[in-house]
Amino acid sequence: MKGLTPQNCAVCGQPVVGRCRVDEWGQYFHEQCEFKPCINCGRVVAMGDLHLPHNRQVCSHCIDKVVQKDAHVQWVYDRVQEIFEKNFLSLPGRVPVEVVDPDRIVKLSRNNYDGRYPSGLTVSGGIGLFGAKMNHKVYMLDYQHKVVFGGVLAHELLHVWQNEHRVSLPPKYCEGFCNLGTYLFYSYLDNELSKKRAEKMMQEPDPIYGDGFREVKQIFETEGSRNLEKTIQILQTKAKQSKRIFRL
Ligand SMILES: [Zn+2]
Ligand SMILES: [Zn+2]
Ligand SMILES: [Zn+2]
Repeated sequence: MKGLTPQNCAVCGQPVVGRCRVDEWGQYFHEQCEFKPCINCGRVVAMGDLHLPHNRQVCSHCIDKVVQKDAHVQWVYDRVQEIFEKNFLSLPGRVPVEVVDPDRIVKLSRNNYDGRYPSGLTVSGGIGLFGAKMNHKVYMLDYQHKVVFGGVLAHELLHVWQNEHRVSLPPKYCEGFCNLGTYLFYSYLDNELSKKRAEKMMQEPDPIYGDGFREVKQIFETEGSRNLEKTIQILQTKAKQSKRIFRL
């Protein structure tokens, strides 16, 4: 810190002297002040920021941009749909989206709770209306920044598409394809937060959500000719081939 202008701690607001820590956005804070990251951008949050139950918090940069109201949901939905259409994929009608709290989304996801709250959830079943074969609904976790919300919504809507078309792919292709939707949303927005999140996706170590996504992205950009529906067909063919090889 020597030679720098004195800074105030991003958590408690008091001047920072001596040893301190820094978050991924370059904000300084005392070693003894607790690091609680914003659920959206990862910045350390201040004591006066929004602290929600279940150890969730939203920083002052994100609070005005969270998606809660229907009008905001519709705005993000339209952007996602636009991006899918540009990449040659049409959704089965308008899929209802509901913003819910962590308790509700955990209840809805039944046995899938692994200690983390799902940020989105797709439920498909029964007979569809208005030209859709099935009935779909997407549940979205509350207090998500519109960039994050759009990324999650794009992921969920590609599950809807796969369910509607009865596409059954191995997890790395199924989730990898949904994550490609997230990545496309971030790429079209091209702002600081979306860039950071896109970079994280490129470094994600998970074999399904990371490696699977990057494999699907590679296929989309080469053989898939940046066409989402064509990419799904290629993935289905590849999945069948690997099953055949596996049986030999
Ligand atoms: Zn402090
Ligand atoms: Zn934030
Ligand atoms: Zn998924």
